[in-house]
Amino acid sequence: MSDVQRIPPAEALPAINLFCPPESAASKRPVDSAIGLSTAAVHAGEARQKHGNAIADPIFCSSTFTFSDTQSVIDFIEQKQSRAEYGRYGAPGEQVVEAKLAALDRGEASVLFSSGMAAVTGLLLANLRSGDEVVFFDECYHRTRQLCQQHLGQLGVVSHQVPTGDFQAMEQAINEKTRLLISESPTNPHLSCIDVAEFAAIGKRHGVKTVIDATLATPCNLQPLTHGVDYVIHSATKYLGGHNDLLAGSVTGPASGIAEIRNIRGLLGSVISPHSTYLLSRGLKTLELRMERHNQNGLGVARFLESHPRISRVYYPGLGSHPSHRLAKSQMNGFGGLVTFEVAGSDWRETARVVDAVKIPRIGPSLGGVESLIEQPLVMSYYECTPGQREEYGITDNMIRLALGIENTDDLIDDLAQALKR
Ligand SMILES: *Cc1c(COP(=O)(O)O)cnc(C)c1O
Repeated sequence: MSDVQRIPPAEALPAINLFCPPESAASKRPVDSAIGLSTAAVHAGEARQKHGNAIADPIFCSSTFTFSDTQSVIDFIEQKQSRAEYGRYGAPGEQVVEAKLAALDRGEASVLFSSGMAAVTGLLLANLRSGDEVVFFDECYHRTRQLCQQHLGQLGVVSHQVPTGDFQAMEQAINEKTRLLISESPTNPHLSCIDVAEFAAIGKRHGVKTVIDATLATPCNLQPLTHGVDYVIHSATKYLGGHNDLLAGSVTGPASGIAEIRNIRGLLGSVISPHSTYLLSRGLKTLELRMERHNQNGLGVARFLESHPRISRVYYPGLGSHPSHRLAKSQMNGFGGLVTFEVAGSDWRETARVVDAVKIPRIGPSLGGVESLIEQPLVMSYYECTPGQREEYGITDNMIRLALGIENTDDLIDDLAQALKR
C-alpha cells in the first residue's frame, strides 16, 4: 500500500481542537478568552494531524463532495454526519478559518463570505423583512448605507441615519419596528470611535440587535462582542488577510444567528474561494504581529504629521487632539494603521501633488495590507459627488488618507517629509 492510499479521508481525521471546535455542537461551548490572540490565530480550528501528515492545511479545489453510498447521503441529510456536500453551502477549508475568526472575535461562531460587502449583505438579509427598520451612524461604511437606503429601501426596509456617536439621536430613532443598530468603530476616513459598550446597552434596552463593522480595528485592537455587541463584521480583505491579495468578509456572533446567515449565504452564493480561504488562514497567523507594526506606524506617522508645519489637521484616535482619543484609549489596545490628514491651505491640486510625491505608499484604495497605500478621498471615492455632498460626508479638498503598511516607521516618515518639502 502506498503512502497516498493510507491518507485517511477528511471525516476520519480526529477533529482535535483545543481552542474553538468547528463542529456546530461544540461551538456552543464558550470560547476560552484566556487564550492569546496569536495562539488562537495559529492553532484554532486546526486538526492536530492532517492530510498527508502535512502541518499546513490543504486547499480543497472542489465544487462538489461525494458520498460513498446512498446511506451516507441519508445520514448527511438527517445530520448524523458533519461534512461538505456542495461548494455553495461551504467547503472543508472554511471551517478552520471560521473557527479562527470565532476565537479571535471571542464569539460562538463565524461565517465567511466572498467579500466584506457580501458579509454585510448576508447579515442584513438574514435579519430584515419588509417594514423593518435599521438605524446607523452617518460615518458608517458608505456602501453599507447605500445598500440599506437604496436597495433594501426598495424592498420595504426603512433606514435612519443619525450623527456618529449621538446615542440620544439613535435612541430616539428606535421604535417597535427597529431590528438592527449598525455602526463602525473606528470610522473611515475620520477615525471616529463610538462607545461600543453604550451602543450594546442601547440595543439590549430596546431588544434590538447591534452590529459593529470592526474592519479598521481588528480583534487585536477592539473586541466588540466582549462589550455586549451581538454581531461583528470584518472586511477580511483588509487587515485579517493582510497582504492585499484576497477579498473576503466575515460575521461573528451567536451560533443560532450565524446559522441563519449561513443559510442566506447558501442562497446568495457569496462563498469564499478555496484559494482565498487558504490565503486568509495564512494571513491570520501573523495578524497580531502585523497589527503591532501597523499600530506603531500609525502612531509614529500621525505624531510626525501633527508636528509638521504644512499639515493643518490629523485624524488619528491615538493623538490627544482627536475627539475620540479618551474613548479609544479606554476601549482599544491600539489605534491601527489608518491616518487621515489635511494639507494646510492647499486646494485639491496641490494636495494631489503631495500624494504623487511619496515614493513608498502606492496610490490605491483599500487598507490593511503589508504595503502602504495613499489616496485623496475627493478623487478616489468622492469624485462624482457634488461639493455639497462632500461637505455632508466631511470630505475636504485637502484631505489625504494614508493606510500604513508594515514598512519601517522611519522610512515612512522620511518619505512623507520629502514629499511635503516639494
Ligand atoms: C472595505 C470595507 C468594507 C467592504 O469590504 P469588501 O471586502 O471590500 O467588500 C466594509 N467595511 C469597511 C469598514 C471597509 O473598510
